[in-house]
Amino acid sequence: MIEQQIKTVIRDIPDFPKPGIVFKDITPILQSPGLCESIIDVFIARLQGLQIDGVAGVESRGFLFGLTLATKLGVPFIPVRKAGKLPHTVKQKIYELEYGSATIEIHTDAFKPGDHILIHDDLLATGGTVTAASQLIQEMGGIVSGFSFVVGLSFLNGREKISPISDNITVLAN
Ligand code: IMP
Repeated sequence: MIEQQIKTVIRDIPDFPKPGIVFKDITPILQSPGLCESIIDVFIARLQGLQIDGVAGVESRGFLFGLTLATKLGVPFIPVRKAGKLPHTVKQKIYELEYGSATIEIHTDAFKPGDHILIHDDLLATGGTVTAASQLIQEMGGIVSGFSFVVGLSFLNGREKISPISDNITVLAN
């Protein structure tokens, strides 16, 4: 099972990036081309039937599988980046974090109004990041068709937060 394979290789890093946080490090997945291939195959299988005109990947670990997913689906990849990284004209969204705020941006020509967009990230925690990405995509005229994540931290209830936006939520390992 893919879930067990993912859980076996990811590792807990205590006190990263700050004291008290146990960070799930997904980078060991990247050392296994076979597992990376399986992850993409399972995503593609589980996303069957969903209308997807583009895959929006959240900086930076959302780029890892997001681009391959988009390429395999035969649709454009849309980078969702932190402020000041995208070189062309952008639309931005400022959103609240536990302490302070953050800004994400998308190129204004990254997709067309009415396009159905799958939002992809490596990990679903509270759901705050992909909620902000969803709001930005919706403000640009896009339709959020679903979400995909390699890992979900179910105790943080991200699924409940994002399900009103779309309940097509694919999480490979909880
Ligand atoms: P959320 O907005 O609280 O759902 O946090 C998700 C975002 O933070 C994603 O972009 C993740 O890459 C990142 N993130 C939060 N916690 C972790 C973790 O334990 N491991 C890897 N990434 C994390």
